[in-house]
Amino acid sequence: MNITEIRSQFPVLDQQVYGKPLVYLDNAATTQKPLCVIERERDYYLHENCNIHRGVHYLSQKATEAYEHARQTVADFIHAKEAKEIIFTRGTTESLNLLATSFEHLFFSETINSQLSTDSQLSTDGEPVEPLNSQLKVLVTAMEHHSNLVPWQQMVQRHNGQLLVVPMDDKGVLDLEQYEKLLKEWPKVVAIAHISNVLGTINPVKEMVRMAHEYGIPVVVDGAQSIAHHSIDVQDMDCDFFVFSGHKMYAPMGIGGLYGKAEWLEQLPPYQFGGEMVDRVSFEKTTFNVLPYKFEAGTPNVGAALGLETAIQFMQGLNRKEVEQHEAQLLCSVIEKLAEIDGIRFIGEAERRSGLVSFVIDGVHPYDLGTIIDKMGVAVRTGHHCAEPVMTRFGIPGTVRASFALYNTLDEVDAFVNAVRKAATMLR
Ligand code: PLP
Repeated sequence: MNITEIRSQFPVLDQQVYGKPLVYLDNAATTQKPLCVIERERDYYLHENCNIHRGVHYLSQKATEAYEHARQTVADFIHAKEAKEIIFTRGTTESLNLLATSFEHLFFSETINSQLSTDSQLSTDGEPVEPLNSQLKVLVTAMEHHSNLVPWQQMVQRHNGQLLVVPMDDKGVLDLEQYEKLLKEWPKVVAIAHISNVLGTINPVKEMVRMAHEYGIPVVVDGAQSIAHHSIDVQDMDCDFFVFSGHKMYAPMGIGGLYGKAEWLEQLPPYQFGGEMVDRVSFEKTTFNVLPYKFEAGTPNVGAALGLETAIQFMQGLNRKEVEQHEAQLLCSVIEKLAEIDGIRFIGEAERRSGLVSFVIDGVHPYDLGTIIDKMGVAVRTGHHCAEPVMTRFGIPGTVRASFALYNTLDEVDAFVNAVRKAATMLR
């Protein structure tokens, strides 16, 4: 893998901040974009811009074709069975709000509800069976980003329901025995992060999906932190839903996706209403469009969807195994070197982890450390990382988090560790 060549495609990396070369280690928040992605979006606005699906004229048809091609590219990238199982959204947060809202409507629509309890909550051999009139529950884990927690929490609270939480140990590993026990409480949905944005833990999602399916419970996997780092195969994972953000995988902001198994997406009612998602409309009644359009109300972000397709093609153009190895090497190196700093405590020490390292240092506030190393050119994130319950679990106000992308180098790891060492000495 030629990192110099790769970095030349990310002009934003080649700059000085406060007179120091920029070391960008905030990739879990958002990755930088390669030239090809920027040019694709620009090209769309220069030559193809048009509203899609509605026009008979040349430009509209061209833009429609390009948008639907992008959908197919996303489907292939995550190994979805069909392109109609991909809904374009603004990103992970919108995808999860869509699901929480649509599930709420599904559960509280009587006709469909009776279908759900007869069809979906039975395992294939007919056992076990959910008790009738049970309280609405959703099962999440102790390490969720607020985006995969608050929408479900608000949804259950509106109906006097309950959020069940899978606990984790001190290393940041989920307790699967507790998970099994909680599944016996009949949550309607399980929602889990593939990779924690604070701890870097890679959760055993395939196993967790299998376990939930024994109870006929659908599983939502939050792939915000996994899709840029690992190959995703939603059919192999067998998850019912997989959500992600384009901007964390080298694509523009404002675009992302929701994968859902067609049989679930068919059942779920629409999330937003308006143009494009309808079939027939009268003052008395509206019928809805087929998948995927049923979930794409209004004018979508076509340019960003095309940018997302180009970002995927960019990643596909690299050897993904080599990329994984490179990122694993960066992580190994940073952990080994940081471990030599006095008073450091890693937050998240699972054996299977990826993409990032989080830590605190005795006597040093994460915010102060982040601010000082910023002046040395190093960009990291400090704080609760939109996962306050994780901070509570570890009894800390926040962490310093360095997160990696394929363009980072071992030299940057060294620059980062040196900056942390210097800052910690200054602050103690
Ligand atoms: N889920 C996880 C695990 C994340 O790391 C993030 C963002 O950091 C999100 C959800 C929310 O993503 P977005 O802000 O792109 O919607």
